Amino acid sequence: MNIKKPRGTSDILPAEIPAWRFVEEVCRRQAAIYGFSEIRFPTFECTELFARGVGGTTDIVQKEMYTFTDKDERSMTLRPEGTACVCRSVVENGLYAGALPLKLFYLSNFFRYEKPQAGRTREFFQFGCECFGPSTPQADAEAILLGDSVIRGLGIKGCVLHLNSIGCADCRPAYRAALKEYFASHYDELCDTCRSRLETNPLRILDCKSPVCSAIADGAPRTTDHLCENCRAHYEELKSILAQSGVEYVEDPRCVRGLDYYTGTVFEFVHGGIGAQSALGGGGRYNGLIAELGGPELPAIGFALGLSRLIMAMEAEKAPLPASGEGSLYIAPLGGDAVTAATLLCQQLRTRGVKCETDITGRSAKAQLKYADKSGHTYVAVIGTDELAAGKCELKNLRTGEKTIIALDADSLAAAIK
Ligand code: AMP
Repeated sequence: MNIKKPRGTSDILPAEIPAWRFVEEVCRRQAAIYGFSEIRFPTFECTELFARGVGGTTDIVQKEMYTFTDKDERSMTLRPEGTACVCRSVVENGLYAGALPLKLFYLSNFFRYEKPQAGRTREFFQFGCECFGPSTPQADAEAILLGDSVIRGLGIKGCVLHLNSIGCADCRPAYRAALKEYFASHYDELCDTCRSRLETNPLRILDCKSPVCSAIADGAPRTTDHLCENCRAHYEELKSILAQSGVEYVEDPRCVRGLDYYTGTVFEFVHGGIGAQSALGGGGRYNGLIAELGGPELPAIGFALGLSRLIMAMEAEKAPLPASGEGSLYIAPLGGDAVTAATLLCQQLRTRGVKCETDITGRSAKAQLKYADKSGHTYVAVIGTDELAAGKCELKNLRTGEKTIIALDADSLAAAIK
């Protein structure tokens, strides 16, 4: 039987792992620098969480969730995104009662039944950050600067921040009405999906990728022309902080994000070199979600970056991975007593924390040296009866070709491997 991985999933093979590790390390490092703590949550949650927390009119809930009924007839869903999960956990564990702001990050995999294409898979990985408590433009700026610092920290230069504000409960209804009126006047030209969005969520029409809807959307009223005094002042302050922090942005009235829970600030990090799925990540303010999920009124801002798209952007820009600073040794025994000596020496080096391998296959010295080179070791030491008798060996640096004579004991070798 020839079993293949499910469509839209990927194996991350050993050769790809250094890039993934680097991206994850930069995410963790930047999150810590900005004062965010890690949170982990279940891979599946009650379906109702996403129906309530993501929004019934969204594509995620309507079309993309991996939902199943468990043996107790409860509806469960593989997490399609992280914000609702974090909010559920904050409410359930009363985390809002501790020190505010509460700043959390996650590195997790998510599942959406989407049409697979470059940059879009059915299982994907996100680095997400959520900040609960303040509703200030400073909190928005901090989240955006954190996302920006990860992208820059990976050496990605061609990413542009798209910024918008979609208003609050006070100003959004009037904007929504203006939008509805505008799109209703183009009803016959809209695609079927957008016709139904006209009633349920006209903001989503701004997101439509169909060329006709997109051209109509270009002439639509802009959210930023309909903001109330508070939202306007907040947006202006945010732009000023970003400008002073040296973050370049474009104001994008079409950036509304797909989810129902956003209020006020929304943003996306867009990269021009990775194809149609050009958003490296995005986020926004969602002041009502914690209360919607049974918690107190607790303003929040968050964003998520997609790890595979970050790697695609690094590859597109040929951004280098840092060289591994870790040295490692391959001990090649020439047979006889040297085999046991190499095994013991290897073990002693490992207990000293040195990355080390020796032969476990019984193959020739030539084949061993080929393996040592192929598997990326930095040093090799060949030991036979002469080396054992002399208590010394030649340590060869495979990168530089440099050779040094070292005493054949674990302490001396450990000191020589950098
Ligand atoms: P979203 O909140 O849905 O905009 O997702 C934030 C980021 O996660 C996107 O900009 C992508 O980088 C990544 N992402 C979302 N969905 C997928 C997917 N199906 N496949 C790969 N990456 C995704």
